[in-house]
Amino acid sequence: MPELPEVTTTATVLHERIRGFTIRGVWSSYNSVFHKGKNNIKNIVYFETFKKAIIGKKILRVRRRAKNVLIDLSGGISILVHMKMTGHLLYGMYRRNSKFETLNPKQTQNSKRKIQNEWEKEEWMPDEKKTSPLLDKFNRFIRLVINFSNGKSLVLSDMRKFAKVVYYKTSEENKIPDLDGLGPEPLEKSFKVANFKHQVRKKPNLPVKQVLMMPEIIAGIGNIYSDEMLWLSGIHPLCQSAKIPENALKKLFSCMRQVLKKGIKLSGDSMSDYRTPSGEKGGFQTEHRAYRRTGEKCPKKGCGGKIQRMKIGGRSAHFCDKHQLRY
Ligand SMILES: [Zn+2]
Repeated sequence: MPELPEVTTTATVLHERIRGFTIRGVWSSYNSVFHKGKNNIKNIVYFETFKKAIIGKKILRVRRRAKNVLIDLSGGISILVHMKMTGHLLYGMYRRNSKFETLNPKQTQNSKRKIQNEWEKEEWMPDEKKTSPLLDKFNRFIRLVINFSNGKSLVLSDMRKFAKVVYYKTSEENKIPDLDGLGPEPLEKSFKVANFKHQVRKKPNLPVKQVLMMPEIIAGIGNIYSDEMLWLSGIHPLCQSAKIPENALKKLFSCMRQVLKKGIKLSGDSMSDYRTPSGEKGGFQTEHRAYRRTGEKCPKKGCGGKIQRMKIGGRSAHFCDKHQLRY
């Protein structure tokens, strides 16, 4: 799932590329009966109001809060995109393909007449050069298309269809459930080591790995970066946060910042299907020291430990069995 560095990359790049454009059209294939009555574009009724609310509006700003991309529009409206498991936003030239199925499956192959009806299937394809990274297979699951006045589009590729898209009044941001109750941003200048300690110790008896990933404690940290910051700081993921000594917590704070900043510098992690808005891979996956390196020798100089894997709070933790201490 995209974490703080991936979502930051997406928001920063999109802010540079789509700011100032006017929305001309919106298309989605998300329609799902399971979302009937829900505030989500997967509910067809909600999608119609979403369309009405955003068409004709101008993009003012793209920013991030926790793991959400927030797109501020003219008219006091914002769009929230949570990419969830496999979603990512892309920007480029797209064209619409229409595939028609015949009503009667027994019709001969030679039948050239294709009937346009409710069986009509549409899809959007990148309309770019053959070498374009937008043609990468992970960029082909297009579920939402927002067209701009310059002929280009912002699209959401989402293989497993878990992403969430809603709109809201920008002035009521703190009231919407997706943003209400989120913990502080770990890279904010105002978030000091004392604030970090205070937050982490709100869950004194839980394993620190689990605490780091709780959005109400600290926003934006997930499985990959929590493993990496714990490896770097030498703290065992199972260690209860109350038992971590002051100096080790201080180290964890600085390792957290270091790891997240490195992730941003490398445009995120594409070990799974995350891609930048240009459709390209980020670079953090080549920097893993613990994450998904189970069985390998610990890369810490002179350590001699081995990377192990363990389930904590339903998630896989990867850690060195030697230098990561369980206080
Ligand atoms: Zn080690």
